Amino acid sequence: MVTIIVGAQWGDEGKGKIVDVLAERADIVARYQGGANAGHTLVVEGKTIVLHLIPSGILHPHVQCVIGNGVVLDPVALRQEIAMLDAMGISVRGRLFISHKAHVIMPYHKLLDAAREQHQGIGTTGRGIGPAYIDKYSRVGIRVVDLLDRRVLEEKLRTNLAEKNALLEKIYGAERLDVEQIVAEYLEFDRYIDEFVTDTSALLHNALREGKQILAEGAQGALLDVDHGTYPFVTSSNPTSGGACTGLGIPPTAVARIIGLAKAYSTRVGNGPFPTELHDETGELLRRLGNEYGATTGRARRCGWLDLVALRYSVMINGITELALTKLDVLGKLSSFKVCTGYRLGNQPLKSFPADARTLDTVEPEYIELEGWQSSLDAAHTIEELPAQARQLVRLIEDYCEVRVSLISTGAERHQIVRRT
Ligand code: GDP
Repeated sequence: MVTIIVGAQWGDEGKGKIVDVLAERADIVARYQGGANAGHTLVVEGKTIVLHLIPSGILHPHVQCVIGNGVVLDPVALRQEIAMLDAMGISVRGRLFISHKAHVIMPYHKLLDAAREQHQGIGTTGRGIGPAYIDKYSRVGIRVVDLLDRRVLEEKLRTNLAEKNALLEKIYGAERLDVEQIVAEYLEFDRYIDEFVTDTSALLHNALREGKQILAEGAQGALLDVDHGTYPFVTSSNPTSGGACTGLGIPPTAVARIIGLAKAYSTRVGNGPFPTELHDETGELLRRLGNEYGATTGRARRCGWLDLVALRYSVMINGITELALTKLDVLGKLSSFKVCTGYRLGNQPLKSFPADARTLDTVEPEYIELEGWQSSLDAAHTIEELPAQARQLVRLIEDYCEVRVSLISTGAERHQIVRRT
């Protein structure tokens, strides 16, 4: 059975922690899209661990981890992450499986990403993810399987570099790259990853046949989806639940649950519309209380109120069957807080989440205000043990989005969780 974990907002909803908690009862955790631009932060027994590529399930010794075909693989980041885990005494050997169909990030992807970002200003992390996906869809990408054969690799690189070097030199004024050097570097990488590479779709299908539990983990969030997000201020893949099927090679019929992660307020990294953004000291306070700084880039996240219009849209496009609400402890530190329950465009109420970023940029959010509880949630492990105001918020979300909140995270640690049966 497959359970998909999808960020229901703009990412950074706390997927790392929720996947880590759910991995206790899973056999496999499989990442289906994105690259090393996403950072999942986990706090285990006071120690902070940041993972970018390897699924958060790796911290559970019984769990196998898959990097699916939908992910773009950064050799440098992967090696760094394996070394970091090794240093912590966590071995990935025999537990990490990388799809032979995953695309590999090449040095020119990173250079082009940085150069294009200066022109476009989308707010990408400059790690080559976008250009690697461009090559995937232009059908010139280099996949893990291509590293197996020196001749194939060289040929593909020569074709790519003919174009990329011209772009780098003539348009972006950067230096040319050398084929031989890249070939040597990536053949060495191939030897390194060899033990991890396999047909991960077959592995997942066998696991399904054996009745195993698979958690499919996305990166970023649904509102950054290249198809359904706030285009063009989006990521270059599909974090929405559909991406789990294409990004892992598993059938939609194998999916039993889709858990949407929503933070009790909203954050967004990079540019793009954000109707409930707070530009005042309350936004600053949320940033400080929630430690809203990027795990990968250290960038300050934009902060604002929970947006139920956007969340309901996300529930719809992902087919979310239950919600996990995170960072409730942070919101409760405020004496009062707001929740957006509608948009207006001029005098007109908007019936749906607009497809156009410019429209979304001009909508007026409508809010209801709730009282904070300003007390610790540490002792709460059932919904009844939460303060009345917190329960009121949960009810509001459930009524508005027409989906149950089944998990509530009340802190960064594993044990700070309310599970509803
Ligand atoms: P992800 O990419 O969705 O995993 O999100 P990040 O890891 O970037 O951001 C989540 C941050 O919030 C991490 O630092 C977590 O340790 C922390 N976190 C997760 N859940 C909670 C929670 O319920 N309360 C608090 N205070 N922190 C949390």
